[in-house]
Order: sequence, then structure tokens, then C-alpha cells
Amino acid sequence: MIVVMKRGASPEQIQHVIQRVEEFGLKAHPIYGTERTVVAAVGEKRDEHRHSLEIAPGVAEVVPILAPYKVASIEVKPERTVVRVGPLWVGNCHLGVIAGPCAVESEEQTLATARAVKAAGATALRGGAYKPRTSPYSFQGLKEEGLRILAAAREETGLPVVTEVLAAADVPLVAGYADVLQIGARNMQNYRLLEEAGAAGKPVVLKRGPAATMEELLLAAEYVLNAGNQNVILCERGIRTFETHTRYTLPLATVPYLRERTHLPIIVDPSHGTGHANLVPRMAAAAVAVGADGLMIEVHPTPEKALSDGYQTLDFAEFAETMALCRKVAEAVGKIMPPPHPTAPLVTSMKTFSKVGSLSAKE
Ligand code: PEP
Ligand code: MN
Repeated sequence: MIVVMKRGASPEQIQHVIQRVEEFGLKAHPIYGTERTVVAAVGEKRDEHRHSLEIAPGVAEVVPILAPYKVASIEVKPERTVVRVGPLWVGNCHLGVIAGPCAVESEEQTLATARAVKAAGATALRGGAYKPRTSPYSFQGLKEEGLRILAAAREETGLPVVTEVLAAADVPLVAGYADVLQIGARNMQNYRLLEEAGAAGKPVVLKRGPAATMEELLLAAEYVLNAGNQNVILCERGIRTFETHTRYTLPLATVPYLRERTHLPIIVDPSHGTGHANLVPRMAAAAVAVGADGLMIEVHPTPEKALSDGYQTLDFAEFAETMALCRKVAEAVGKIMPPPHPTAPLVTSMKTFSKVGSLSAKE
């Protein structure tokens, strides 16, 4: 249930309600809005203490939270959450762009990519040091050496680092280097990992499992929120369907659907969502058009030589073109997207888009 405090309720009154909620064996999540404060009381057998809370000083009303996901629900917090890490702002009118290679392969590759994506307007660097690969014989990532390389790229460019943590036991190590922890699609329902990541105190990008429903995604986010971490970014990255023309099927209706149910920011990953580099620019722009709060895009100096996911990865020029297109759409839908750096290559024509139709070239 939600304990809605009166406008101007004192800090002592709020603290008293938090204490009462905890005395009932429930978890209290105070949410301080600009208008008023609410305290979400979460746990089993929530409603039996409702009347006692209603008469506490400073309380305006107590209302049940109808959604099964409590802290993630828009019922608890109508104001949109903005997750901020240095130049990366994701949520409300801010569009964050997380770009970089699928995997960290070398210092040279990662630094070159970090410089290029920053110049084109990205606000965070992505790159996997621990890779969840379908086959145990595929490149598994550089592990801690990869984390060190990402930290060096942050040092030089100032871009915050977003990187995947694969196992609960790895959270302290990865969180020691990363600015944002990525929970991959295969791990969306790894509840121990979600709890550990939530407790690490770093923002979390939670990718939708390829077979997960919206409710399952929001309940997975709830694990992170319930660990006391309010900085969760949801990521639509495509789901598995009968369709084979793309690697996954990228349902962009996820974005406006979630916007009506949660205050958490929602980003889209058109790289994994389509699995084809030539489909990425337009799907990125479409994601911005439907109101996405950010993008996650794979970029590599030479995609054809990438050790993983090269077929869905943009080169530097293609990424700059994609940013230019997204910037136009962002402006039209009222989103703030950082401009390219003055050193960015000039985008004169959208050559990326002339490749549409040559799908087999990158298969
Ligand atoms: C990735 O971002 O490189 C990745 C492995 O993504 P996903 O978990 O969505 O497959
Ligand atoms: Mn990848």
C-alpha cells in the first residue's frame, strides 16, 4: 500500500510512518516527490495495518498498490525517474546513448571506439568484459583485464562505463570498475544476481529476457528496487518469436506500454533487437519516436573483425549517421540529446540507409 503524506508533512512525521511500517514487518520505501512524499509499504499481508497508518500524524491517505510490482509502479511515483551518471542522463526528457563494442577485445579497439562514439554524441561507453555466449567455445571476454581497459577509456574520455555482470559472485569486482551494471537478457530472472546488483549501489540496466513478459520484467526490476536501489533502467532488446528474418523481434510498443505503468526509464537496444547492422539506424530512430529514454548500440572500428556480434555492429561513420538521424527525431518528440562534438565527422549524406535491402551482406 502507499501512505500518501500531507503536503508539508514534517520529516519527523515521515520518519514516524517509516518506523510504523517497519514495525508491521513491512519494507518502507520513502519516495520524495516535488509535490509530496509517499511511503510505499511492501511485503506480505500489507493491508491489515492500513487503518492504523491512516490515523498517523501527517498522513493524507493510504491506498492499495494494485500492480504486483510495487516500487516500480507509476501508482507510487507519477514523476518520471531520471537516472544520472556523469554525462549519462536517462529518463523524462533526457535521452541517453550507450554505445560501444559488444565485447572489449583490446585497449586499442576500446579506446578508439570510446573516442568515436563520444565525438558522435554518445553519453556512455558500453563493452562486455564478461560475455554470455551461447557456446562455451566462443570468446568469453577479457574478464578483469577488460574491466581495466574500460576504466582506462573512461579516464580518457569521461564517458561512464556500462558493462555486464554475469554472476552474483562477480558483482563486487565488476562494480569496482563499472559506473552502471548491465544485467543481460539471459539473467533477467537470476534473482540472486538482481539482489546483489541492487545492493551494489550502482545504477542497473536490466535487459528484457527474450521470453519474458512485461510483468516479469517489472517484477525483476522490483528485486533491484527492493534492494534499495532506485536507479534502474529497463531495456527492450527483442524477444524470440517464430520469425527468422531478424535475430530477435524488436517490439517497440514496449516503450509506450511501460511508460504508462512505471516511472523507470526505458531504453532500446536495436543491435540485439534486429541482429543486422543495416536495420539498426532506422530502428534506433523509431525507438526515439516512440518515446524511448535512451539507446544501447553496438559500435566497433571494424565490425567484420569483431570477436562477437559483428553482423549487428555499426562502424564509426554509420554510428555518426545514426546519431544524426536520431537527433532529428528527438527534437521532434521533445527529447534532449547531446550534440556531436565539434571534432565529429561531418555527416553529409545518410549512406547507411542506402544499404537497406542488402541484408545478406552481413549475415
Ligand atoms: C550485450 O549487450 O552484449 C548482450 C549480451 O545483450 P543481451 O543480454 O541483450 O543478449
Ligand atoms: Mn552483443
